[in-house]
Amino acid sequence: MKTNRRRFIKNVAGASAGILVSTACTNRSENKNNVSKAPAIHNKTKPIKASHDVIVVGAGLSGLHSAMLLEEQGYDVQVIEGRQRLGGRVYTLNNVPGKPEAAGEFIGATYARMVNTVNKLGLELYSPEDNNGPNRPWLYNLKGEYITAANWESHKMNPLEGEDRKLLPHRYLSTLSHRDNPLKDKPLDEWLKPEYQKYDIPHNEYLRSKGYNEATIDLMNVIIHSGGMHKTSALNELRRYHVNSFGNGKITFPDGKGWKMVKGGNSLLPEAMANSLQNEVHLSKTVIGFKEQDGIVQVSCADGSEYKGKNVICSIPISVLRNVTFEPYITGVTKEAIEQIDYGLSVQVHFLIKEPYWEKDGMDANMWTDGPLERFAVRTKRNENDLNAGLAYINGPESFKFNLMTDEQVFNYVEQKLAEIRPSTKGNLERLMVQSCERDVHGAGDWVYWQPGQVTKFGNHMRKSHGNIHFAGEHTAIMQRGMEGAFESGERAALDIILKA
Ligand SMILES: Cc1cc2nc3c(=O)[nH]c(=O)nc-3n(C[C@H](O)[C@H](O)[C@H](O)COP(=O)(O)OP(=O)(O)OC[C@H]3O[C@@H](n4cnc5c(N)ncnc54)[C@H](O)[C@@H]3O)c2cc1C
Repeated sequence: MKTNRRRFIKNVAGASAGILVSTACTNRSENKNNVSKAPAIHNKTKPIKASHDVIVVGAGLSGLHSAMLLEEQGYDVQVIEGRQRLGGRVYTLNNVPGKPEAAGEFIGATYARMVNTVNKLGLELYSPEDNNGPNRPWLYNLKGEYITAANWESHKMNPLEGEDRKLLPHRYLSTLSHRDNPLKDKPLDEWLKPEYQKYDIPHNEYLRSKGYNEATIDLMNVIIHSGGMHKTSALNELRRYHVNSFGNGKITFPDGKGWKMVKGGNSLLPEAMANSLQNEVHLSKTVIGFKEQDGIVQVSCADGSEYKGKNVICSIPISVLRNVTFEPYITGVTKEAIEQIDYGLSVQVHFLIKEPYWEKDGMDANMWTDGPLERFAVRTKRNENDLNAGLAYINGPESFKFNLMTDEQVFNYVEQKLAEIRPSTKGNLERLMVQSCERDVHGAGDWVYWQPGQVTKFGNHMRKSHGNIHFAGEHTAIMQRGMEGAFESGERAALDIILKA
């Protein structure tokens, strides 16, 4: 198939700048064969034929964005997805009052590609703060003691000095990590340069070198999105806040102005993206292996079906790839990256709140703790008529234990621990659901994170293709993170295919 490279690059550059990508389509293939019914028998006289120009594996934002861009350039693309739903780590819980987001939630001010796609597909954004007012304040429960935000500055457990004593514990990780950030005012891909490798060390060591004490670091550990401060590269955190503050150097918080969500739920976006595609996305197609032969990639699924493409874009989270076979084998640094890179884990346990327990005991409703539940928050209502709903949100090391529990055990555990620190919640919660992005075989966790030494080792290898298999996904992005990182990666993977045509 032919395409106009110069126009594609121009359009992609326009998309990055927030300008609508052209919807012009060239030379679209008429081939709509979706799946070969039986595995083909290959021999030298009968060359394998591709059923599509590109097979995209994974219907998260990265896979869907790459499919849209390739289709616009006339490629025949088939997206296949392991789960029975679209969106991957974008998942609005439509059955929970207030339709909370179980994953990708806040759209940042620099999410140009994502905002562009929202506009292009006729969806609307809104700022949660404009609709519902600010979030409720946290009531801290540290070492079993209640501390209000107003009492924190003078409290004996406050480990900081001077003006820093005004800083609230839930802001420690972001504010203190970003202070003196060596990436400040630098380009977004600066973190990959060799001169920053000296920060590719455990984050707790970095903070100690900056003079922070253990009590401060322990409070930061409560909300770390990873395996713990010791297992997280300082460069991971420096980059995270560099991206967050890009433009004006100031960190923006999800409960502050400038963050947006999709009206009606973020899942509407991947759904609209999938609907805009020529070929319907095939759900429940869990890929178990890739085999490349004669320049054609055969994609095998757990249900026995097979797809064949001239190219594949694989947006499966990198740690899930440990369970997928590649022929020829993946070797070298990419293999090590697949074996070693991990995602932060988190679990949300959703409840309906029968009676406002905070009115019973007269304390702030939302709890931020250094105990096993970490946070329990009443959801900010999206509509006046919504019922009160709340959730325990546990991430990082404290969330690992939930991998060993059934949903029933998770509910029992959360209710029991919550009643211990907040007796007014006892008998006052109705169970709704346990949600975690790694609680099924297709998920790895919430955000990929770099462990000490991994930026140096793997940072520049994540985008390397394996034959005609091109890797996408938030974990391969170098400029942006999260949902916009997924868009960036989908764009880069599509471009890789266009440029080699
Ligand atoms: C709790 C939570 C909160 C978050 N909050 C934010 C936020 O506020 N802002 C932000 O920007 N980002 C946030 N993120 C991160 C953001 O959601 C992700 O970075 C982004 O959605 C990742 O998109 P992706 O396409 O790279 O991966 P995914 O969405 O994971 O897509 C990969 C797809 O591949 C599929 N798949 C996996 N294995 C197979 C297989 N073997 N065969 C076929 N298909 C397979 C999966 O089902 C999935 O659909 C959050 C994530 C979580 C979990």
